[in-house]
Amino acid sequence: GAVDHECDVLVLGGGPGGYSAAFRAADLGLKVVLVERYATLGGVCLNVGCIPSKALLHVAAVIDEARHLAAAGVTFGEPTVDVAALRAHKDKVIGKLTAGLAGMAKARKVTVLRGYGAFVGPHHVAVEETTGSGQDKTGRTQVVAFKRAIIAAGSQAVRLPFLPDDPRVIDSTGALALEGVPQRLLVVGGGIIGLEMGTVYSTLGARLEVVEMTAGLMPGADRDLVKVWQKMNAHRFDAIRLQTKCTGAEATAEGIRVRFEGPDGAVSEGLYDRVLQAVGRSPNGRKIAAERAGVAVSERGFIPVDVQMRTNVPHIFAIGDIVGQPMLAHKAVHEGHVAAEVIAGELLGDDKLARTAFDARVIPSVAYTDPEIAWVGLTEEQAKAQGIAVHKGLFPWAASGRAIANGRDEGFTKLLFDAATGRIVGGGIVGQHAGDMIGEVALAIEMGADAVDIGRTVHPHPTLGETIGLAAEAAHGACTDLP
Ligand code: FAD
Repeated sequence: GAVDHECDVLVLGGGPGGYSAAFRAADLGLKVVLVERYATLGGVCLNVGCIPSKALLHVAAVIDEARHLAAAGVTFGEPTVDVAALRAHKDKVIGKLTAGLAGMAKARKVTVLRGYGAFVGPHHVAVEETTGSGQDKTGRTQVVAFKRAIIAAGSQAVRLPFLPDDPRVIDSTGALALEGVPQRLLVVGGGIIGLEMGTVYSTLGARLEVVEMTAGLMPGADRDLVKVWQKMNAHRFDAIRLQTKCTGAEATAEGIRVRFEGPDGAVSEGLYDRVLQAVGRSPNGRKIAAERAGVAVSERGFIPVDVQMRTNVPHIFAIGDIVGQPMLAHKAVHEGHVAAEVIAGELLGDDKLARTAFDARVIPSVAYTDPEIAWVGLTEEQAKAQGIAVHKGLFPWAASGRAIANGRDEGFTKLLFDAATGRIVGGGIVGQHAGDMIGEVALAIEMGADAVDIGRTVHPHPTLGETIGLAAEAAHGACTDLP
């Protein structure tokens, strides 16, 4: 049939992976078409993920911080929250960033097509145009012919089939829409997304319950870090149900009645004004007719790739949430750059670029709760499970001048060094701004630093970042007495 656009690279999906790949490819001199079904670029992260959640978490943290100031002799009245204005503030934050992306696409002459993309063959994608703020189809379809494609179609929230179809049952997108503050909120799934949104609603006045299938909240994080968070946040919760499954629910006039099955088969129930399902995200691999291009997709919808982000079809690449865990924006961005560089290398005959590969040793994780929890590389539990002997360097923030000055000394910084090589293999931080600090630990791991390298790096005093140097000194037994 007729082809409406021809390009070097077609990028399917305008999230952090997709726009990063598109911009890098354009910067390297390629003709790029970027397909996105929504009105704005930025994907889940900018529109309904990282950014709006952080805008709301910032507000929550300031409110909580103001309350903490009572200990310093300063009290404010209870805040009055204009939910509509708060929602508008959050939307403004999103708008600034998505408008910035639109400008960057334009400056790079990336053609952005608005619509649903699906493969119609190994070198063609059909784009069904969409309109409005939703995804209404206009009936117009355009065909794009490409030399290379990058699939960056992301993921969506998993829906539990036994929860009723009711406006009071929401996912993270519904939670970020901020339509009022419920009195009793049940968070199903005790991972980062559920607990971040729970934090926002609790600070705005909701009572929380959380139900989690595994033995602890924030699965994947070091247990010691989580313990500190849990102690500081106990006041938010009416119940934390661990090793417990949600087994059913019904919508009633008084609320959503949810049934649980606990560790010993014990059955219980609760009544909630709002139920937030945050049980993970599933990749969109089965929704883009990948089979028509011959691209292999797993049963769950993931697209397997090699270290160059190449699928089983050599001219088609995939990046971001759709290729697997961890489903994080910074991973998607780096993968997007790799795919774009490999493609540019191949199409422009630049061997060095064509050999680019994704070889991050570690990818940091952050829960932007209060306190924040951040970790990178191995945790103590993982090192043990993998039979790696580690030296631990621990620095409690109760000995940090800055944390004490801030009135927030509950945190700690922990570094793990391989006992055989002396090199750092992991680190975890719990405390205010832990997320802003963890990049240094990631850099140390990437550079193969040992405890002396980190401990003798002069950190500014008094800062929270100083605790990284002090934890390293603790590991090699040469702690200075400068808190
Ligand atoms: P996505 O962002 O999912 O983008 C995919 C895009 O493709 C979407 O815009 C979608 O509309 C489009 N698309 C899909 N199919 C088609 C199609 N057929 N045609 C056209 N377009 C299509 N990560 C962090 O690193 N830090 C955080 O703090 C963080 N917070 C989060 C908070 C929440 C509430 C959620 C839900 C997620 C959060 N994440 C966070 C995860 C992060 O949002 C994702 O890892 C990231 O967005 C993945 O980027 P991506 O490019 O792979 O896909």
